[in-house]
Amino acid sequence: MRASQFFLPTLKETPAEAELVSHQLLLRGGFIRRLASGLYTWLPLGLRVLRKVEAVVREEMERAGAQEVLMPVVQPAELWQESGRWEMYGPELLRLKDRHQRDFCLGPTHEEVISDLARREIRSYRQLPVNLYQIQTKFRDEIRPRFGLMRAREFIMKDAYSFHVDQDSLRATYQDMYDAYSRVFTRLGLEFRAVDADNGSIGGKASHEFHVLADSGEDAIVHCSACDYAANQELARSRPEAERSEEMFSAEQRSTPGIRTVLEQAKLLGITPAQVVKSLLVIADEHPVLLLLRGDDELNLIKAARALDVDAVRMASAEESQEILGVPFGFFGPKDLPVTLPILADQRALALRNFSTGANVADQHWLNLNWERDLPRPAVADLRNVQAGDACPHCTPGTLGIRRGIEVGHVFQLGTRYSEKLGVRVLNEAGKEQTVLMGCYGIGVSRIVAAAVEQNFDERGICWPPALAPFDVGIVAIQAKKSPAVRAAAETMMERLEKLGMQVFLDDRDERPGVQFATLDLIGLPHRLVISDKTLAQNVWEYRSRRESENRLLSEDAVLAVLQGESV
Ligand code: ATP
Ligand code: MG
Repeated sequence: MRASQFFLPTLKETPAEAELVSHQLLLRGGFIRRLASGLYTWLPLGLRVLRKVEAVVREEMERAGAQEVLMPVVQPAELWQESGRWEMYGPELLRLKDRHQRDFCLGPTHEEVISDLARREIRSYRQLPVNLYQIQTKFRDEIRPRFGLMRAREFIMKDAYSFHVDQDSLRATYQDMYDAYSRVFTRLGLEFRAVDADNGSIGGKASHEFHVLADSGEDAIVHCSACDYAANQELARSRPEAERSEEMFSAEQRSTPGIRTVLEQAKLLGITPAQVVKSLLVIADEHPVLLLLRGDDELNLIKAARALDVDAVRMASAEESQEILGVPFGFFGPKDLPVTLPILADQRALALRNFSTGANVADQHWLNLNWERDLPRPAVADLRNVQAGDACPHCTPGTLGIRRGIEVGHVFQLGTRYSEKLGVRVLNEAGKEQTVLMGCYGIGVSRIVAAAVEQNFDERGICWPPALAPFDVGIVAIQAKKSPAVRAAAETMMERLEKLGMQVFLDDRDERPGVQFATLDLIGLPHRLVISDKTLAQNVWEYRSRRESENRLLSEDAVLAVLQGESV
């Protein structure tokens, strides 16, 4: 491809609306353009990268035995009513009506559509297992579309769905897909982790997320230093704390005027935050609940919702607390709570002795309280965010570290969640009708493009991993317009490389060399070759890899050897 004929609108300035490096560089490098919030056009350069991701995903899906289909983006409301998600999905589901006033939605995912296909077409266990996938546009009306391709409203997903007569078959396909995902991200040259996203439901390891590790990631990934334990912080666990055995002191109430925070409380009382049991009033769906955590721990709302078996948990405001408990914010606590409420305590809070809490009186706190002696031991739950340095729940002496991750894939054992509701049944070996089991497997194809940039850039631009680069090699022909010999040498080299199967971007524009170099650095091609009158006279090429800063002068043969060694 010749730059002079290629549609490559690059930008000199960093667009103001772009916060993330990937968003900035993809805009500046002429990979994508914004149409409206969360909607992007893929320009030729960007589309080449997207197609590379798709090709690898496709190959690995086929290798894992999945077969490609293509389902409609527009889906009838009836199917979503059957699954119960028409109500449940909320405003992320973009709903629309056709000219007959019938309800439809734009597919954010395709469990309903694929289940409808399966219930119509699959009759017998003999047709199972089957695994179908598509690479297709999804629409989710995200509350906060941001970071460009990372959290778009319209995006490209690979979604696969498998159907099974029994759990063993589901587990086997799940493992195949897990392995296929690992191959996809390895081939793409990304540093990634598969993390346990087990949602705690029956059947053990029912879900894993694949994360590309990058400082800008929205998710916190907890991982062990010694074993392969890794989990999203949303549900990561640590080893339970040993119960304290120190001598119990006598409880006393202390005056703590105006105290609002655990830190202030600890400082005034001459203790550490780890000796405080903090009381958090939350609203679980509609109902107030008191949650207790150690003073230096952070509440995890997702764990709390799970422990309480509700949809959502939120912190009560200061006004709500005052109204519900009749105690000023900052001074309530589990001992002699003025109203009867469910109380749930994190294990680390229950392991304490001689702890301090609010006294349910304005400007008063307890010191040296002890479970059972002074107040009943509440029910225990895992409510806290794991912290770096915590002990691993699976091994000794492993400790947990935390890194940021971008979720690029998700594999899930659905069981009968959709097949039950939509009536996907087959005749089993015994001739009896039974509900099938399902697995579903998503990859954020367009998000991968952004995630790859987050992991591979420097101050000059993108440094694509070779498998993702829009072109393998960039050739800069210096002053090609003035020198037919330079131009001819560059063209010949391009043909050579293309014959060897490489994709070449020839910068034949009538630009200053500095501009040409800056463009190639910005768009991040793995290899750069420069030819000028000077190098031509010496019969050499100036070669540089995108990740190095040193030029090498190489003969044509040496150039071919280097490029083939690295990119073939
Ligand atoms: P997230 O927690 O990031 O919202 P999700 O749990 O909603 O993701 P899934 O429903 O599992 O995502 O979708 C499968 C994959 O699609 C995700 O792993 C992610 O890579 C990608 N994806 C999801 N939402 C978006 C989006 N708004 N823009 C781009 N990619 C997305
Ligand atoms: Mg989402």
